Amino acid sequence: MQPERHSFGSGLGNPAVRPIHLASQTSPGSEAKLPGDTRLRIVQLQAECGDRRIVLRLCSGEGVTESCECSCIASLVQAQELFRLLLQMIQIGSFGYPPQLDPRLTFETCIGGMRDAALQQRFQLATPLITQASVDYELAANSNLLHTIPSGNGVGPVSCKEMSKLYDSRMVPMNSPGRATYDLLLSAPRHGICPLCGVRTVSTLDHHLPKAHYPAYTVNPLNLVAACQDCNKAKLNKIPTTSSEETLHPYFDNIDNERWLMAEVLNTAPAALKFFVEGPTNWSPILASRVQYEFEMLRHGKSYPLYAASELASIRSGLMKLSAAGGQAAVRNQLTERAESCKADRLNSWRTAMYESLAFSDWFCGGGFQATG
Ligand SMILES: [Zn+2]
Repeated sequence: MQPERHSFGSGLGNPAVRPIHLASQTSPGSEAKLPGDTRLRIVQLQAECGDRRIVLRLCSGEGVTESCECSCIASLVQAQELFRLLLQMIQIGSFGYPPQLDPRLTFETCIGGMRDAALQQRFQLATPLITQASVDYELAANSNLLHTIPSGNGVGPVSCKEMSKLYDSRMVPMNSPGRATYDLLLSAPRHGICPLCGVRTVSTLDHHLPKAHYPAYTVNPLNLVAACQDCNKAKLNKIPTTSSEETLHPYFDNIDNERWLMAEVLNTAPAALKFFVEGPTNWSPILASRVQYEFEMLRHGKSYPLYAASELASIRSGLMKLSAAGGQAAVRNQLTERAESCKADRLNSWRTAMYESLAFSDWFCGGGFQATG
């Protein structure tokens, strides 16, 4: 049994795209004078696609923004870029996860409007290589073969350092041309929760193949995954050398339709949890190794017990009342209900594993929860 694969559209070139109707489009440049003698430039762009309608209004200058169906925008250029991306995403019918963004367009957006014409020309010369590399990436990611992609010192006439600087100066900073893409990728995970640990909030983009070794993917949306600082740091510059060392790619490897994260109750005072990976028997040995490898690399075995300890302390008083009123059965019912609720939300969360193992433990339900150590 292999992970469920996501498919990617290529944006505007996709034959399945839905038509966009531009209801109205006002060119940038119209100005409005607001109370307090503040002059603001206003852009209004409006488009419809099927039953979706986007209206984007922007007042730049003092940073006042107003928008619909998009996140806060800081500049006129960014608003236009965001609007273009939104249109692209509507056309391919996806606002969901993974984000559907065209790698070539993203690269061209990042290199657009550069002051250094010679540098821009070199980037332009690298465009076909970037595009081909993206095709290779998607094929490899769909076959557990990302580790076979060769690392490199540059892309054609562009050095690795220049690609890295492109990301740092033209995709990450607010108001930079690629920032709208950055924001869309960052806001993609459900509830803003890091897809790697499932606990902490996203705060950065992780280069799945590190940009220090794979310059062709430095600004490629397929290689940029929203993550928390801790997970990003734990993965830093790690290069896979075998299939078993390929960490799970959230855009390509969906294993959350099957149960694989388990926990065991430790009969200590206070009670504690030990977490471990135990995938279904139909998993291939490579997939089992990859999940175990990622679990260890991201140090879930150390962090999940800490979250569990805090959760246990927060439910102790409630369990004592339940136990006084209804005994062990009442405690077990409560824990079982919690496990079912957590499971419905996320099959492999530490909470699901924790509550399930607590409900299963006679020791814990029979009074083990009371010890505070
Ligand atoms: Zn994380």
